[in-house]
Amino acid sequence: MIPVVMPTYARADLAFERGEGVYLFTGDGRRFLDFAAGVAVNALGHCHPRLVKALTEQAGRVWHTSNLYRVPGQEKVAAKLVERTFADTVFFCNSGAEALECSIKMARRYHYAAGNPQRYRIICAEGAFHGRTLATVAAGGQKKHLEGFAPAVDGFDHVPFGNLNALRAAITDETAAILVEPVQGEGGIVPGDPDYLRRLRATADEFGLLLIFDEVQTGMGRTGTLFAHEQAGVTPDIMGVAKGLGGGFPVGGCLATAKAASGMVAGTHGSTFGGNPLAMAVAEEVLDVMAEPGFLGHVRAMGALLRAKVEAAASRTPGVVAEVRGLGLMLGFKPVMPNTEMVARLAANGLLTVGAGDNIVRLLPPLIIDESHVDEAAGILSRTFDEVK
Ligand SMILES: *Cc1c(COP(=O)(O)O)cnc(C)c1O
Repeated sequence: MIPVVMPTYARADLAFERGEGVYLFTGDGRRFLDFAAGVAVNALGHCHPRLVKALTEQAGRVWHTSNLYRVPGQEKVAAKLVERTFADTVFFCNSGAEALECSIKMARRYHYAAGNPQRYRIICAEGAFHGRTLATVAAGGQKKHLEGFAPAVDGFDHVPFGNLNALRAAITDETAAILVEPVQGEGGIVPGDPDYLRRLRATADEFGLLLIFDEVQTGMGRTGTLFAHEQAGVTPDIMGVAKGLGGGFPVGGCLATAKAASGMVAGTHGSTFGGNPLAMAVAEEVLDVMAEPGFLGHVRAMGALLRAKVEAAASRTPGVVAEVRGLGLMLGFKPVMPNTEMVARLAANGLLTVGAGDNIVRLLPPLIIDESHVDEAAGILSRTFDEVK
């Protein structure tokens, strides 16, 4: 008999009743250090007092009005995103996949509006992840996500991530855009070389293509800057964000330059829920907390500390961990055993982590962790590595 909740996930048998800061608690009183953070979503931890206040105050005013009317919260959040990024304009949606759908549609529409409707193809990277809608699974190009859902949406070409020559060779007169994650997340925490990202920008300019960065996972402070591309010193034309933007409230955004968005006139795209007042109240507060002096410096400091401690734990127990990699607080390590088994053992010892491609175990803690949380995580990692060595 099929479960009442459709069984599309391989879930751990854990259910949480309460969250507080960096900790989650089960109904039967077990406490977990949460270095999964809802897959890089709970950027400010659980039940951050300022987010609770912003959400509950808005809940007492108005929840939803639709995009038939102006939504003042959208105007405020968009202005803050525009002020802090390359972007001139923002479309609000509810998830990462929708942020990428908007990015893909915008790239096609840009060339259509410029009189080049034949330019619709997007060059993507092998190992990418952009979401689970029909277009975004085609953009991701992963066999396991496409199987059984044929025909795949047309218009995506894949080249190895990090290989500029292969990418340039894939450009044709039908190419509209280049789409990559600055650090591949689901693919297994694979940082794009800053020089590669800079050359993607130059290549896009050379061929009149739009450069799209998927910062759904890397964005909102995760890598130690508000957006990961800042560290390479380049800007995209279009960027998808979600995950950390709402700190746990579902919200996404598609940011773009005026030029890239020039085809997105009234009627070209929409969403009933996108950017509703509740989502905007929380997103504005998330942005305000992240804009406070020292916030991103703290992420960089904690990222460096956590990485050093994971490396130290790994080197104390040779033969357990093959590699540690990542950027800021988007870290991963590659156990010698299957990552699913490592994730389960860590959870049994009280530390929540997330698996990823290439047998990686991801460490994606809330960005508000302090040294005590890093020490506690390092202790659990050491103990678990001892158990399995
Ligand atoms: C999670 C993720 C998505 C999809 O986000 P959803 O909210 O699950 O639709 C897209 N791109 C990247 C890089 C992601 O990490």
